[in-house]
Amino acid sequence: IRIPNDLDSFWMPFTPSRAFQEAPRMLHKADGVRYVTVDGAEKFDGTGGLWCCNAGHNHPRIVEAIQRQAADLDFAHTFGQGHPIAFEAAARVVDLAPGMDHVFFTNSGSEAVDTALKIALAYHAARGDGGRRMLVGREKAYHGINFGGLSVGGIGLNKGQFGTLYPSVAHLRHTWLEENHFSRGMPEHGAHLADDLQRLCDLHGGHTIAAVIVEPVSGAGGVFPPPKGYLERLREICDAHGILLIFDEVITGFGRMGTAFAYEAFGVQPDLVTCAKGMTNATVPMGGVLATAAVRDAFRQAPSKMPDLFHGYTYSGHPLASAACIATLEVYRDEDIFGNAARMATPWEDMVHGLADIDGVIDVRNCGIIAAIQLAQQGAVGDAGRAAHAKLWEAGLIVRPIGDALAMSPPLTITQAHVDEIGATLRSVLAA
Ligand code: PMP
Repeated sequence: IRIPNDLDSFWMPFTPSRAFQEAPRMLHKADGVRYVTVDGAEKFDGTGGLWCCNAGHNHPRIVEAIQRQAADLDFAHTFGQGHPIAFEAAARVVDLAPGMDHVFFTNSGSEAVDTALKIALAYHAARGDGGRRMLVGREKAYHGINFGGLSVGGIGLNKGQFGTLYPSVAHLRHTWLEENHFSRGMPEHGAHLADDLQRLCDLHGGHTIAAVIVEPVSGAGGVFPPPKGYLERLREICDAHGILLIFDEVITGFGRMGTAFAYEAFGVQPDLVTCAKGMTNATVPMGGVLATAAVRDAFRQAPSKMPDLFHGYTYSGHPLASAACIATLEVYRDEDIFGNAARMATPWEDMVHGLADIDGVIDVRNCGIIAAIQLAQQGAVGDAGRAAHAKLWEAGLIVRPIGDALAMSPPLTITQAHVDEIGATLRSVLAA
């Protein structure tokens, strides 16, 4: 495998060029929980691609379904025409999602988020309540990098360069209480932090807020499970003010919490759910927005002559993505992938918390099959995370550094032997 001389044509700002050019981390093949580099070295995929390869890499049933579909019907759009497989994929996704009756297909998580925000604004307009224009997100939240998602997102570094995006936005405070450090799973303290939404309602008027969007477990901001009772409290405040509640399940969807969606595991019903990643096991790009019948019906019952929503992508319900989605959901079902995630959640939790005694580990957070190990800062923010990430790569384990936290979200197919292997690698590298 030849690495091209010119690595500069591909504008990829997150791949720091000098270090990368000196020692390119280039992956060539994948199978199950492992990648193989161009030099033939194996790397355990502790990040499941990027929180997305839930059934492991290169699953033969999914590969075969994509190949078959490409040979039969490579593409057809879904504007005033269709193809059965897109409708089949939609029906199967909706079947997995309790209380959800419809799915709007997109091509990515970022598009799903912008779609959900547009649905929320248009929903209120369809009900004659178009004055609701404010969108509420949360500090430290990641909702993709498109205009809407960036507006409601809470990671300053992503937003700083672009100035004001959607103008009518407010953010809930993100607070990780000291007493929640080293909590196993959802922390005990902090349900009251959801009252920050009531503060925003008092400040701006609850009747001006269209929607609140949160990740049930925040991922890319550093892995923060919700305090027990927090999401319930958000739901109550939304109900009291007629605000739509959107869960961004781009990471948590498709089994990471041991159920198809996190909202099921947490027992809180949102109005809209965004998903992507695990929808096709990260093969052909696909995302979607799940909606309740009540949301969709508001459009159907609107007095105007408008079609129900002026929105849609060339590739909404793309045949290859639809085929990949159907095959993926069959693999999840037939191999009981969500059940395995549920069963492995405790061994996973035991492993990550078993590292708490290592010098320099200042917090461990986990929920389902996701975790972060927070390292003490050394020098500038991110130095410790970057150094540990590099050493772990050399030792054969891929993690995702987020500042000085090491985030992990391995495929949901992990076994006890895999968990032991990850634990041993982490211990040897972090202890050193
Ligand atoms: N929402 C959440 C919660 C995410 O974690 C991500 C991606 N990590 C996105 C949205 C954006 O998804 P994509 O990168 O597919 O656009």
